[in-house]
Amino acid sequence: MGICPVCNGLEEKYFTCSTCGSELEEAGRLMDFFDDYSAYMPIDLMKLEDGYPEDYAKGLCPHLYKCPTCYSDVVQFIQE
Ligand SMILES: [Zn+2]
Ligand SMILES: [Zn+2]
Repeated sequence: MGICPVCNGLEEKYFTCSTCGSELEEAGRLMDFFDDYSAYMPIDLMKLEDGYPEDYAKGLCPHLYKCPTCYSDVVQFIQE
């Protein structure tokens, strides 16, 4: 597993909301949410669990971003 620049504070990634165009706020590693809050995850994010082995093989680190304007949750895969 490589080193994710976002997890390690080396780099900040900026993404915009596909719904309203606002700048998304980084909310943490998706895996941290599965550890602590898996019971509360929205259904569409839970589906992503099936894709994890492939994502790790490609060296991608899934992060959760939130839109402060419309409260959308967006998963972005950071290249490690
Ligand atoms: Zn990461
Ligand atoms: Zn938005």
